[in-house]
Amino acid sequence: MLEYQATENLLKNKTILVTGAGDGIGRAASLAFAAHGATVILLGKTVKKLEAVYDEIEQAGGPQPAIIPLDLKGATEQNYIDMAETIEQQFGHLDGLLHNASLLGVLGPFEHISMSSVEEVMKVNVIAEIMLTKALLPVLKKAPLASLVFTSSGVGRQGRAFWGEYAMSKFATEGMMQSIAHEFQDSNLRTNSINPGATRTSMRANAYPAENPQTLKTPAEIMPTYLYLMGDDSKDINGQQLNAQ
Ligand code: NAP
Repeated sequence: MLEYQATENLLKNKTILVTGAGDGIGRAASLAFAAHGATVILLGKTVKKLEAVYDEIEQAGGPQPAIIPLDLKGATEQNYIDMAETIEQQFGHLDGLLHNASLLGVLGPFEHISMSSVEEVMKVNVIAEIMLTKALLPVLKKAPLASLVFTSSGVGRQGRAFWGEYAMSKFATEGMMQSIAHEFQDSNLRTNSINPGATRTSMRANAYPAENPQTLKTPAEIMPTYLYLMGDDSKDINGQQLNAQ
């Protein structure tokens, strides 16, 4: 899928929600989905960043996006239920959901893990994903073909020293993906995970401050796998762990 070439109208008439849409990989995915015809619902914490992505999509002539300002750290189950109702009223159904927003947390020895940091990472990377998915399943089920994509990591597939907090959250994400994929295997909903691989974003720079970012792929360069998973060419792919690099 690394070489997948998306047709221009791959996502025409599809509505796709992206979390963490204002920066990094989520921003690139939102721009790529819109460039291939999707109406993108931009969810994120920093409104200014979401507005900048909104403007970029409009300037490129893409379908008018929507913005949902939401801090996943503080959001309640009711917030997600209300959001799902609004999406259903406005769009009728949802064709795609990309869980992308995440926190890195603190890297360090397991013996030094701070419970407040673990709780924050689990809230944003896991609990928010559960609540958002649960609330949006009814609108995803209404789509002719729906794609649910979770974002993993290399350490979501093989744990690593000093990456405990983040790794545990990504293993939970993979477990959620597999459980949902199995549960909905004979339905219109497919569920998969994607490991972006080392990508030039601020999260990566925080994890590897001494690394030269120019040696890394940009978010825009890893989009073929994201487009593949959101488009109908992947309709028979379910429960798989994909790599974007
Ligand atoms: P990033 O540049 O740090 O972007 C993260 C996005 O998540 C930002 O838009 C951020 O919004 C949003 N976000 C963070 N906390 C949030 C909250 N509480 N509520 C709402 N939105 C929140 O990270 P990235 O590198 O693009 O990472 C994207 C995904 O890929 C993550 O799941 C990450 O774990 C995964 N990943 C990345 C790499 C890599 O090398 N970059 C490798 C493996 C996996 P604000 O900007 O408003 O804070």
